[in-house]
Amino acid sequence: MTPAPPSIAIVGGGPAGLRAAELCAAGGAAVTVFDAKRSVARKLLVAGYGGLNLTHGEALDDFVGRYSGGSGFPVRLFEEMIRRFPPDELRAWADGLGIETFEQRTGRVYPREMKAAPMVRRWIERLRKQGVRFEVNHPLAELGPGPSLRCRHTSEAANFSAIILALGGASWPKTGSDAAWVPLLEAHGIAITPFEPANCGWEVAWPDDLAGRIEGKPLKNLRVHAGPLGADGELMLTRHGIEGGAIYQLGPILRAMPEPQVVIDLKPEVAEATLARKMESVRRDFLAAAGERWKLGEPARLLLEHFHGPFDELDELVEATKNLTIPLTGPRPIAEAISSAGGVAWSEIDDELMLRKLPGVFVAGEMIDWEAPTGGYLIQGCFATATHAARGALGYVL
Ligand SMILES: Cc1cc2nc3c(=O)[nH]c(=O)nc-3n(C[C@H](O)[C@H](O)[C@H](O)COP(=O)(O)OP(=O)(O)OC[C@H]3O[C@@H](n4cnc5c(N)ncnc54)[C@H](O)[C@@H]3O)c2cc1C
Repeated sequence: MTPAPPSIAIVGGGPAGLRAAELCAAGGAAVTVFDAKRSVARKLLVAGYGGLNLTHGEALDDFVGRYSGGSGFPVRLFEEMIRRFPPDELRAWADGLGIETFEQRTGRVYPREMKAAPMVRRWIERLRKQGVRFEVNHPLAELGPGPSLRCRHTSEAANFSAIILALGGASWPKTGSDAAWVPLLEAHGIAITPFEPANCGWEVAWPDDLAGRIEGKPLKNLRVHAGPLGADGELMLTRHGIEGGAIYQLGPILRAMPEPQVVIDLKPEVAEATLARKMESVRRDFLAAAGERWKLGEPARLLLEHFHGPFDELDELVEATKNLTIPLTGPRPIAEAISSAGGVAWSEIDDELMLRKLPGVFVAGEMIDWEAPTGGYLIQGCFATATHAARGALGYVL
Protein backbone atom coordinates (compact mmCIF):
# COMPACT_ATOMS: atom_id res chain seq x y z
CA MET A 1 0.00 0.00 0.00
CA THR A 2 1.35 3.45 -0.89
CA PRO A 3 1.45 5.78 2.13
CA ALA A 4 -0.95 8.75 2.09
CA PRO A 5 0.74 11.96 0.90
CA PRO A 6 1.50 14.59 3.53
CA SER A 7 -1.35 17.08 3.96
CA ILE A 8 -0.68 20.83 3.80
CA ALA A 9 -3.29 23.44 4.66
CA ILE A 10 -2.88 26.88 3.17
CA VAL A 11 -4.94 29.53 4.93
CA GLY A 12 -5.52 32.61 2.78
CA GLY A 13 -6.02 32.49 -0.97
CA GLY A 14 -4.26 35.66 -2.08
CA PRO A 15 -1.21 35.55 -4.36
CA ALA A 16 1.01 34.28 -1.51
CA GLY A 17 -1.36 31.46 -0.57
CA LEU A 18 -2.02 30.38 -4.15
CA ARG A 19 1.70 30.39 -4.96
CA ALA A 20 2.40 28.27 -1.86
CA ALA A 21 -0.45 25.92 -2.87
CA GLU A 22 0.93 25.29 -6.36
CA LEU A 23 4.42 24.49 -5.08
CA CYS A 24 3.17 22.23 -2.30
CA ALA A 25 0.89 20.35 -4.72
CA ALA A 26 3.75 20.04 -7.23
CA GLY A 27 5.91 18.73 -4.38
CA GLY A 28 3.51 15.83 -3.78
CA ALA A 29 1.40 17.12 -0.87
CA ALA A 30 -2.39 16.95 -0.60
CA VAL A 31 -3.25 20.64 -0.45
CA THR A 32 -6.36 22.41 0.85
CA VAL A 33 -6.72 26.20 0.57
CA PHE A 34 -9.02 27.74 3.21
CA ASP A 35 -10.28 31.29 2.77
CA ALA A 36 -12.67 33.40 4.82
CA LYS A 37 -14.32 34.98 1.77
CA ARG A 38 -16.65 33.51 -0.84
CA SER A 39 -13.85 33.48 -3.39
CA VAL A 40 -10.05 33.80 -3.39
CA ALA A 41 -7.64 36.42 -4.77
CA ARG A 42 -9.97 39.38 -4.23
CA LYS A 43 -7.21 41.90 -3.58
CA LEU A 44 -5.27 40.68 -6.59
CA LEU A 45 -8.37 41.34 -8.69
CA VAL A 46 -8.59 44.84 -7.22
CA ALA A 47 -4.91 45.37 -8.08
CA GLY A 48 -5.92 44.45 -11.62
CA TYR A 49 -8.05 47.61 -11.88
CA GLY A 50 -4.79 49.57 -12.03
CA GLY A 51 -3.38 47.25 -14.70
CA LEU A 52 -1.71 44.80 -12.27
CA ASN A 53 1.87 45.89 -11.89
CA LEU A 54 3.33 42.41 -11.44
CA THR A 55 6.98 43.24 -10.92
CA HIS A 56 9.75 45.60 -12.04
CA GLY A 57 12.50 45.29 -14.61
CA GLU A 58 15.26 47.27 -12.85
CA ALA A 59 18.63 45.65 -12.09
CA LEU A 60 18.27 42.97 -9.43
CA ASP A 61 20.85 44.66 -7.17
CA ASP A 62 18.61 47.74 -7.03
CA PHE A 63 15.43 45.69 -6.85
CA VAL A 64 16.40 43.82 -3.69
CA GLY A 65 17.11 47.13 -1.93
CA ARG A 66 13.46 48.22 -2.18
CA TYR A 67 12.35 46.08 0.76
CA SER A 68 12.39 47.15 4.39
CA GLY A 69 10.59 46.17 7.55
CA GLY A 70 10.20 46.53 11.27
CA SER A 71 12.54 45.47 14.05
CA GLY A 72 14.91 42.65 13.07
CA PHE A 73 14.05 42.85 9.34
CA PRO A 74 16.43 40.22 7.89
CA VAL A 75 17.99 42.12 4.99
CA ARG A 76 20.10 39.14 3.85
CA LEU A 77 17.31 36.53 4.08
CA PHE A 78 14.85 38.77 2.24
CA GLU A 79 17.38 39.45 -0.49
CA GLU A 80 18.04 35.73 -0.78
CA MET A 81 14.31 34.99 -1.11
CA ILE A 82 13.98 37.54 -3.93
CA ARG A 83 17.12 36.28 -5.69
CA ARG A 84 15.75 32.72 -5.55
CA PHE A 85 12.48 33.87 -7.07
CA PRO A 86 13.43 37.01 -9.06
CA PRO A 87 11.28 39.17 -11.37
CA ASP A 88 12.27 37.13 -14.45
CA GLU A 89 10.85 34.00 -12.81
CA LEU A 90 7.62 35.78 -12.03
CA ARG A 91 7.35 36.79 -15.69
CA ALA A 92 8.11 33.20 -16.75
CA TRP A 93 5.47 31.99 -14.30
CA ALA A 94 2.87 34.31 -15.87
CA ASP A 95 3.98 33.14 -19.30
CA GLY A 96 3.36 29.56 -18.15
CA LEU A 97 -0.26 30.54 -17.60
CA GLY A 98 -0.41 32.01 -21.10
CA ILE A 99 -0.23 35.58 -19.73
CA GLU A 100 2.17 37.67 -21.77
CA THR A 101 3.87 40.51 -19.86
CA PHE A 102 5.59 43.68 -21.02
CA GLU A 103 7.92 46.20 -19.41
CA GLN A 104 6.99 49.88 -19.52
CA ARG A 105 9.61 52.56 -20.03
CA THR A 106 9.48 53.14 -16.27
CA GLY A 107 10.55 49.52 -15.72
CA ARG A 108 7.15 48.47 -14.36
CA VAL A 109 5.99 45.09 -15.67
CA TYR A 110 2.33 44.43 -16.49
CA PRO A 111 0.30 41.68 -18.17
CA ARG A 112 -0.28 42.71 -21.79
CA GLU A 113 -4.04 42.70 -21.07
CA MET A 114 -3.57 45.11 -18.12
CA LYS A 115 -5.93 43.15 -15.89
CA ALA A 116 -5.81 40.39 -13.31
CA ALA A 117 -9.00 38.41 -13.97
CA PRO A 118 -7.77 36.21 -16.86
CA MET A 119 -4.61 35.33 -14.92
CA VAL A 120 -6.51 34.51 -11.72
CA ARG A 121 -9.06 32.40 -13.61
CA ARG A 122 -6.40 30.31 -15.36
CA TRP A 123 -4.36 30.01 -12.18
CA ILE A 124 -7.28 28.59 -10.19
CA GLU A 125 -8.14 26.18 -13.01
CA ARG A 126 -4.55 24.95 -13.02
CA LEU A 127 -4.51 24.57 -9.24
CA ARG A 128 -7.68 22.48 -9.36
CA LYS A 129 -6.08 20.27 -12.02
CA GLN A 130 -3.11 19.86 -9.67
CA GLY A 131 -5.59 18.48 -7.11
CA VAL A 132 -5.73 21.54 -4.84
CA ARG A 133 -9.02 21.68 -2.88
CA PHE A 134 -10.62 25.01 -2.06
CA GLU A 135 -12.66 25.60 1.09
CA VAL A 136 -14.06 29.12 0.82
CA ASN A 137 -16.26 30.76 3.50
CA HIS A 138 -13.88 29.18 6.02
CA PRO A 139 -12.51 31.88 8.35
CA LEU A 140 -9.72 30.60 10.55
CA ALA A 141 -10.88 30.40 14.18
CA GLU A 142 -8.09 28.57 15.98
CA LEU A 143 -4.55 27.31 15.47
CA GLY A 144 -2.98 24.62 17.58
CA PRO A 145 0.10 22.49 17.95
CA GLY A 146 0.34 19.42 15.78
CA PRO A 147 -0.10 21.59 13.75
CA SER A 148 -3.88 21.83 13.65
CA LEU A 149 -6.52 24.37 12.74
CA ARG A 150 -10.20 24.92 13.17
CA CYS A 151 -12.34 27.16 11.02
CA ARG A 152 -15.44 28.96 12.25
CA HIS A 153 -18.53 26.73 11.70
CA THR A 154 -16.49 23.54 12.26
CA SER A 155 -16.62 22.01 15.72
CA GLU A 156 -13.37 20.05 15.64
CA ALA A 157 -9.80 20.99 14.85
CA ALA A 158 -8.15 19.12 11.95
CA ASN A 159 -4.51 18.04 11.94
CA PHE A 160 -2.20 18.66 8.97
CA SER A 161 1.39 17.71 8.27
CA ALA A 162 2.07 21.47 7.88
CA ILE A 163 0.12 24.71 7.64
CA ILE A 164 1.05 27.82 5.65
CA LEU A 165 -0.64 31.03 6.71
CA ALA A 166 -0.93 33.67 3.98
CA LEU A 167 -3.58 35.87 5.55
CA GLY A 168 -2.54 39.23 4.10
CA GLY A 169 -2.07 42.61 5.76
CA ALA A 170 -4.67 45.10 6.94
CA SER A 171 -5.46 47.36 3.99
CA TRP A 172 -8.63 47.11 1.91
CA PRO A 173 -10.33 44.85 4.53
CA LYS A 174 -13.35 44.30 2.28
CA THR A 175 -11.13 42.08 0.09
CA GLY A 176 -10.64 39.77 3.09
CA SER A 177 -7.36 41.14 4.46
CA ASP A 178 -8.90 42.36 7.70
CA ALA A 179 -6.18 41.24 10.15
CA ALA A 180 -8.82 39.38 12.21
CA TRP A 181 -6.17 36.65 12.55
CA VAL A 182 -3.96 38.78 14.82
CA PRO A 183 -5.50 37.61 18.16
CA LEU A 184 -5.30 33.96 16.99
CA LEU A 185 -1.51 34.22 16.79
CA GLU A 186 -1.21 36.47 19.86
CA ALA A 187 -3.00 33.71 21.80
CA HIS A 188 0.19 31.66 21.25
CA GLY A 189 2.40 34.50 22.52
CA ILE A 190 3.40 35.44 18.96
CA ALA A 191 4.32 39.13 18.66
CA ILE A 192 2.62 41.11 15.90
CA THR A 193 4.02 44.53 14.97
CA PRO A 194 0.96 46.83 14.84
CA PHE A 195 -0.26 47.42 11.29
CA GLU A 196 0.12 50.88 9.79
CA PRO A 197 -0.91 52.21 6.38
CA ALA A 198 1.84 52.01 3.75
CA ASN A 199 1.70 53.25 0.16
CA CYS A 200 -1.04 55.62 1.19
CA GLY A 201 -2.11 59.21 0.89
CA TRP A 202 -1.23 61.78 3.57
CA GLU A 203 -3.62 64.33 4.95
CA VAL A 204 -3.12 68.09 4.75
CA ALA A 205 -5.26 70.59 6.65
CA TRP A 206 -6.13 72.63 3.56
CA PRO A 207 -8.82 75.26 4.05
CA ASP A 208 -12.03 74.24 2.23
CA ASP A 209 -11.78 76.92 -0.44
CA LEU A 210 -8.24 75.85 -1.38
CA ALA A 211 -9.22 72.15 -1.33
CA GLY A 212 -12.08 72.89 -3.70
CA ARG A 213 -9.73 74.57 -6.19
CA ILE A 214 -6.94 71.98 -6.21
CA GLU A 215 -8.84 68.71 -5.70
CA GLY A 216 -8.18 66.15 -8.45
CA LYS A 217 -5.28 68.13 -9.94
CA PRO A 218 -1.87 66.50 -10.49
CA LEU A 219 1.55 68.02 -9.83
CA LYS A 220 4.02 66.51 -12.30
CA ASN A 221 7.81 66.19 -12.64
CA LEU A 222 8.62 66.84 -9.01
CA ARG A 223 11.25 65.92 -6.52
CA VAL A 224 9.69 65.33 -3.11
CA HIS A 225 11.80 65.22 0.05
CA ALA A 226 11.01 63.90 3.52
CA GLY A 227 13.93 64.41 5.89
CA PRO A 228 17.08 63.23 4.10
CA LEU A 229 15.22 61.11 1.51
CA GLY A 230 13.90 62.19 -1.84
CA ALA A 231 11.64 60.65 -4.49
CA ASP A 232 10.92 61.75 -8.04
CA GLY A 233 7.51 61.53 -9.61
CA GLU A 234 4.01 62.90 -9.45
CA LEU A 235 1.54 63.82 -6.76
CA MET A 236 -2.22 64.00 -6.92
CA LEU A 237 -3.92 66.68 -4.84
CA THR A 238 -7.08 65.47 -3.13
CA ARG A 239 -9.67 66.99 -0.82
CA HIS A 240 -7.91 65.28 2.07
CA GLY A 241 -4.29 65.86 1.12
CA ILE A 242 -1.71 64.28 -1.16
CA GLU A 243 -1.57 60.91 -2.95
CA GLY A 244 0.80 59.39 -5.47
CA GLY A 245 3.92 57.41 -6.13
CA ALA A 246 6.37 60.05 -4.91
CA ILE A 247 4.82 60.22 -1.44
CA TYR A 248 4.21 56.44 -1.23
CA GLN A 249 7.95 55.86 -1.49
CA LEU A 250 8.56 58.16 1.47
CA GLY A 251 6.00 56.42 3.75
CA PRO A 252 8.47 54.72 6.12
CA ILE A 253 10.34 57.95 6.89
CA LEU A 254 7.16 60.07 7.13
CA ARG A 255 5.70 57.60 9.65
CA ALA A 256 8.82 57.98 11.78
CA MET A 257 8.71 61.82 11.80
CA PRO A 258 7.04 63.38 14.87
CA GLU A 259 5.83 66.25 12.67
CA PRO A 260 5.72 64.84 9.15
CA GLN A 261 6.14 67.22 6.25
CA VAL A 262 7.22 67.11 2.64
CA VAL A 263 9.46 69.61 0.90
CA ILE A 264 8.75 69.73 -2.83
CA ASP A 265 11.04 70.97 -5.57
CA LEU A 266 8.49 72.04 -8.19
CA LYS A 267 11.21 72.58 -10.81
CA PRO A 268 13.88 69.97 -10.08
CA GLU A 269 15.50 70.28 -13.48
CA VAL A 270 15.84 74.06 -13.42
CA ALA A 271 18.53 75.76 -11.33
CA GLU A 272 17.58 78.71 -9.11
CA ALA A 273 19.72 81.09 -11.19
CA THR A 274 17.86 80.03 -14.35
CA LEU A 275 14.50 80.60 -12.69
CA ALA A 276 15.65 84.09 -11.65
CA ARG A 277 16.97 84.86 -15.15
CA LYS A 278 13.66 83.91 -16.77
CA MET A 279 11.99 86.61 -14.65
CA GLU A 280 14.55 89.34 -15.31
CA SER A 281 12.19 92.01 -16.63
CA VAL A 282 9.43 91.27 -14.11
CA ARG A 283 9.12 93.78 -11.26
CA ARG A 284 5.93 92.68 -9.47
CA ASP A 285 3.24 89.95 -9.44
CA PHE A 286 5.99 87.36 -9.62
CA LEU A 287 3.66 84.46 -8.91
CA ALA A 288 1.33 85.33 -11.78
CA ALA A 289 4.31 85.75 -14.13
CA ALA A 290 5.69 82.34 -13.06
CA GLY A 291 2.70 80.71 -14.72
CA GLU A 292 3.98 81.62 -18.17
CA ARG A 293 7.71 82.10 -17.65
CA TRP A 294 8.31 78.97 -15.58
CA LYS A 295 5.32 76.96 -16.87
CA LEU A 296 4.14 76.71 -13.28
CA GLY A 297 0.55 75.40 -13.26
CA GLU A 298 -2.28 76.93 -11.27
CA PRO A 299 -2.40 74.26 -8.52
CA ALA A 300 1.32 74.77 -7.82
CA ARG A 301 0.85 78.54 -7.71
CA LEU A 302 -2.09 78.20 -5.31
CA LEU A 303 -0.02 76.02 -2.99
CA LEU A 304 2.93 78.42 -3.11
CA GLU A 305 0.67 81.34 -2.26
CA HIS A 306 -1.02 79.46 0.58
CA PHE A 307 2.09 78.05 2.24
CA HIS A 308 4.75 80.71 1.46
CA GLY A 309 3.08 83.84 0.03
CA PRO A 310 2.89 86.73 -0.44
CA PHE A 311 6.02 87.17 -2.53
CA ASP A 312 7.35 90.71 -2.40
CA GLU A 313 10.75 89.67 -3.74
CA LEU A 314 11.61 87.33 -6.59
CA ASP A 315 14.16 85.52 -4.42
CA GLU A 316 11.42 84.45 -2.03
CA LEU A 317 9.41 82.87 -4.84
CA VAL A 318 12.47 81.10 -6.29
CA GLU A 319 13.31 79.72 -2.84
CA ALA A 320 9.71 78.56 -2.22
CA THR A 321 9.43 76.96 -5.67
CA LYS A 322 12.48 74.83 -4.93
CA ASN A 323 11.30 74.14 -1.35
CA LEU A 324 7.51 74.14 -1.18
CA THR A 325 6.97 72.88 2.37
CA ILE A 326 3.67 71.17 3.18
CA PRO A 327 2.97 69.99 6.74
CA LEU A 328 1.08 66.69 6.89
CA THR A 329 -1.39 65.85 9.63
CA GLY A 330 -1.15 62.05 9.26
CA PRO A 331 -1.65 59.14 6.87
CA ARG A 332 -5.03 58.33 5.34
CA PRO A 333 -6.87 55.42 7.04
CA ILE A 334 -5.37 51.96 6.56
CA ALA A 335 -8.56 50.73 4.85
CA GLU A 336 -7.65 52.95 1.87
CA ALA A 337 -3.94 52.12 1.73
CA ILE A 338 -2.51 49.99 -1.06
CA SER A 339 -0.57 47.95 1.48
CA SER A 340 0.27 47.84 5.15
CA ALA A 341 3.45 47.87 7.19
CA GLY A 342 3.64 45.69 10.30
CA GLY A 343 2.59 42.08 10.79
CA VAL A 344 4.17 38.95 12.23
CA ALA A 345 7.40 40.09 13.94
CA TRP A 346 10.66 38.73 12.52
CA SER A 347 11.71 37.54 15.98
CA GLU A 348 8.90 34.96 15.74
CA ILE A 349 10.03 33.45 12.42
CA ASP A 350 12.94 31.16 11.57
CA ASP A 351 14.91 31.15 8.31
CA GLU A 352 12.36 28.82 6.68
CA LEU A 353 9.56 31.27 7.62
CA MET A 354 8.25 28.83 10.23
CA LEU A 355 6.74 30.20 13.44
CA ARG A 356 9.12 29.30 16.27
CA LYS A 357 6.22 28.92 18.73
CA LEU A 358 4.08 26.77 16.40
CA PRO A 359 6.33 24.22 14.71
CA GLY A 360 4.95 23.16 11.35
CA VAL A 361 3.15 26.50 10.80
CA PHE A 362 4.76 28.74 8.16
CA VAL A 363 3.92 32.32 7.13
CA ALA A 364 4.08 34.09 3.76
CA GLY A 365 3.10 37.32 2.02
CA GLU A 366 2.00 40.65 3.37
CA MET A 367 1.07 39.31 6.82
CA ILE A 368 4.80 39.38 7.70
CA ASP A 369 6.43 42.62 8.88
CA TRP A 370 7.96 43.84 5.59
CA GLU A 371 7.01 46.59 3.19
CA ALA A 372 7.94 47.90 -0.23
CA PRO A 373 6.88 50.79 -2.45
CA THR A 374 4.46 50.42 -5.35
CA GLY A 375 6.07 49.42 -8.63
CA GLY A 376 5.46 45.66 -8.57
CA TYR A 377 7.56 45.01 -5.47
CA LEU A 378 4.58 43.91 -3.35
CA ILE A 379 3.37 41.05 -5.53
CA GLN A 380 6.97 40.01 -6.15
CA GLY A 381 7.59 39.99 -2.38
CA CYS A 382 4.47 37.88 -1.82
CA PHE A 383 5.54 35.33 -4.46
CA ALA A 384 9.10 35.18 -3.16
CA THR A 385 8.12 34.67 0.50
CA ALA A 386 5.48 32.12 -0.50
CA THR A 387 7.99 30.21 -2.61
CA HIS A 388 10.35 30.12 0.36
CA ALA A 389 7.66 29.10 2.87
CA ALA A 390 6.37 26.33 0.55
CA ARG A 391 9.87 24.91 0.18
CA GLY A 392 10.26 25.10 3.96
CA ALA A 393 6.94 23.32 4.51
CA LEU A 394 7.80 20.58 1.96
CA GLY A 395 11.16 20.10 3.67
CA TYR A 396 9.34 19.82 7.00
CA VAL A 397 6.83 17.18 5.88
CA LEU A 398 8.79 15.04 3.42
C1 LIG B 1 -5.92 48.97 -4.78
C2 LIG B 1 -4.71 48.08 -4.73
C3 LIG B 1 -3.86 48.00 -5.81
C4 LIG B 1 -2.71 47.20 -5.76
N1 LIG B 1 -1.91 47.14 -6.85
C5 LIG B 1 -0.78 46.42 -6.80
C6 LIG B 1 0.08 46.32 -7.93
O1 LIG B 1 -0.25 46.81 -9.03
N2 LIG B 1 1.27 45.63 -7.79
C7 LIG B 1 1.62 45.05 -6.60
O2 LIG B 1 2.72 44.49 -6.50
N3 LIG B 1 0.78 45.06 -5.54
C8 LIG B 1 -0.39 45.72 -5.61
N4 LIG B 1 -1.23 45.76 -4.54
C9 LIG B 1 -0.84 45.01 -3.31
C10 LIG B 1 -1.06 43.49 -3.46
O3 LIG B 1 -2.37 43.26 -4.00
C11 LIG B 1 -0.92 42.83 -2.08
O4 LIG B 1 0.37 43.12 -1.58
C12 LIG B 1 -1.10 41.32 -2.19
O5 LIG B 1 -2.41 41.00 -2.64
C13 LIG B 1 -0.87 40.66 -0.84
O6 LIG B 1 -0.95 39.28 -1.06
P1 LIG B 1 -1.17 38.25 0.14
O7 LIG B 1 -1.38 36.92 -0.51
O8 LIG B 1 -0.10 38.39 1.14
O9 LIG B 1 -2.53 38.71 0.86
P2 LIG B 1 -3.96 39.05 0.27
O10 LIG B 1 -3.96 39.24 -1.18
O11 LIG B 1 -4.44 40.16 1.14
O12 LIG B 1 -4.80 37.74 0.58
C14 LIG B 1 -5.07 37.32 1.90
C15 LIG B 1 -6.16 36.27 1.84
O13 LIG B 1 -6.35 35.74 3.15
C16 LIG B 1 -7.74 35.60 3.43
N5 LIG B 1 -7.92 35.71 4.88
C17 LIG B 1 -7.63 36.76 5.68
N6 LIG B 1 -7.93 36.47 6.96
C18 LIG B 1 -8.42 35.21 6.95
C19 LIG B 1 -8.88 34.34 7.99
N7 LIG B 1 -8.94 34.73 9.28
N8 LIG B 1 -9.29 33.10 7.64
C20 LIG B 1 -9.24 32.67 6.35
N9 LIG B 1 -8.81 33.46 5.34
C21 LIG B 1 -8.40 34.71 5.64
C22 LIG B 1 -8.36 36.77 2.69
O14 LIG B 1 -9.73 36.56 2.43
C23 LIG B 1 -7.51 36.83 1.41
O15 LIG B 1 -8.07 36.00 0.39
C24 LIG B 1 -2.42 46.48 -4.58
C25 LIG B 1 -3.28 46.55 -3.50
C26 LIG B 1 -4.43 47.32 -3.56
C27 LIG B 1 -5.35 47.37 -2.38
